[in-house]
Amino acid sequence: MPSLAAKKSTRTPARSGRPAPELIFGDLWEFDPAPETADPKLKSRYDLFIDGQFVAPKSGRYFDTINPANERKLAEIALAGRDDVDAAYQAAQRAFDTTWGRMPGRERAKYIFRIARLLQDRAREFAVAETLDGGKPIKESRDFDVPMTAAHFFYHAGWADKLEYVAPGHRVAPLGVVGQVIPWNFPLLMLAWKIAPALAMGNTVVLKPAETTSITALKLAEILQDAELPPGVVNFVSGAGETGAAVMSHPTPVKIAFTGSTEVGKIIMRSLAGTEKKMTMELGGKAANVVFDDAPIDQAVEGIVNGIFFNQGHVCCAGSRLLVHEPIADLVLAKLKNRLKVLRVGDPMDKNTDIGAINSKPQLQKIQELVESGVKDGAEMFQPACRLPSKGYYFRPTIFSGVTMSHRIAREEIFGPVLSMLTFRTVDEAIEKANNTAYGLSAGVWTDKGSRILKMSTELKAGVVWANTYNKFDPTSPFGGYKESGFGREGGRQGLLDYAKLI
Ligand code: NAP
Ligand code: MG
Repeated sequence: MPSLAAKKSTRTPARSGRPAPELIFGDLWEFDPAPETADPKLKSRYDLFIDGQFVAPKSGRYFDTINPANERKLAEIALAGRDDVDAAYQAAQRAFDTTWGRMPGRERAKYIFRIARLLQDRAREFAVAETLDGGKPIKESRDFDVPMTAAHFFYHAGWADKLEYVAPGHRVAPLGVVGQVIPWNFPLLMLAWKIAPALAMGNTVVLKPAETTSITALKLAEILQDAELPPGVVNFVSGAGETGAAVMSHPTPVKIAFTGSTEVGKIIMRSLAGTEKKMTMELGGKAANVVFDDAPIDQAVEGIVNGIFFNQGHVCCAGSRLLVHEPIADLVLAKLKNRLKVLRVGDPMDKNTDIGAINSKPQLQKIQELVESGVKDGAEMFQPACRLPSKGYYFRPTIFSGVTMSHRIAREEIFGPVLSMLTFRTVDEAIEKANNTAYGLSAGVWTDKGSRILKMSTELKAGVVWANTYNKFDPTSPFGGYKESGFGREGGRQGLLDYAKLI
């Protein structure tokens, strides 16, 4: 049994006899690790899920998925080629024509409800699998990803028999077969955002998970079998970018839903230009988190930390640009530095870990490259002196101060635990700086004044504006972008309508 007793740090105090300043918030207290023990029930090899069955890829090819926390291989994943994608679309079309597209909503609701319940039954197992494959801290997959995924299925099960109310004045009908591609930062949750509304509305699906995080999608396929979802309603084709391109460019789907980088989103849009396919694109972000001098500062500091260091900053809506009102800039920075010193970076399977592993080596290299550019451009960097595991992909939480709008770290999406701090003097300057980006996914405002919150949320060009909080999600609220962050909404009534034909 791991002991709960805290151990004193063995680091020597400063000569004066008082602890050195960095020890006050540093590693004064060390907790014994408390790894989760639930068995993630991993198979050594995962096949494709097509027409209700696990099937080997026609090419016979598999690729490895690894645990980014220690670089060890977890399983082999089937690599779907064009023929497999084609088989998946044929199954989805059959299911749409013969079962799912004709089934009354109240019957579809029962299946979606069952999927949510079965996922809840296996919540711990799925949380461990998500953490092993993706690197996020177990407390996040356990307390956020898995419960939120179940919540999305419950919410959409609730809609399926009430669709006559979703668009007042209209009747709604499903679109048909839908092709979907998702990224690696929230593998299960992104999957739920895609398939739950599609199924509630009566569509059938072919989905490609991200190459580095396919396990939980293929485990969810076991739940779809247990829920006795009719064959072909949901099909999973794992693989890399080429498989994604095959899913997006296939002639069968009448709608394409993509979540990922703006760069790949543009490639897909170019390839579909001139077709009649409906599209929704959930792309990158570079959110501004704006803190005014009348904000509750300690609460704001917690919100800033949650906004960028949550899930290693692998969050499209991460508050990666901090805009602080000049009179409180030094105070906020000092408090943030102290907070960073007590964040625990390391083994994602440890319940005490705040920042886990970076999802992959290429992503780690991308973060490193952008952080080097910040130093070269002249911004001031702070990183706490935490120890990182010797194996695996890790990056220290990082704050840059003295950042200007021309720095790459203020403009480009880093997708890592790196915060760029800028200052402002007036409300108008804050708005101008916040909107001075190609993206427009989310933003945060911290102030005591309701009128200022209303002004900011009207003026900020962002799909979501959080006030005095950050990174809060709910299946009932639509989420999506402005400008190069994409178009279309996921969640809420608006998200459902993106999967509907209005009659
Ligand atoms: P990505 O490189 O664009 O990949 C996203 C997905 O597209 C993956 O499944 C990827 O496959 C696949 N893909 C790659 N090339 C493709 C192509 N030519 N055609 C079709 N599919 C292709 O993005 P990422 O690095 O995985 O994810 C991070 C990005 O997602 C960030 O920009 C983030 O902001 C964005 N994101 C946005 C939202 C939102 O709601 N707006 C939510 C989450 C993430 P492989 O994995 O096999 O390469
Ligand atoms: Mg992996």
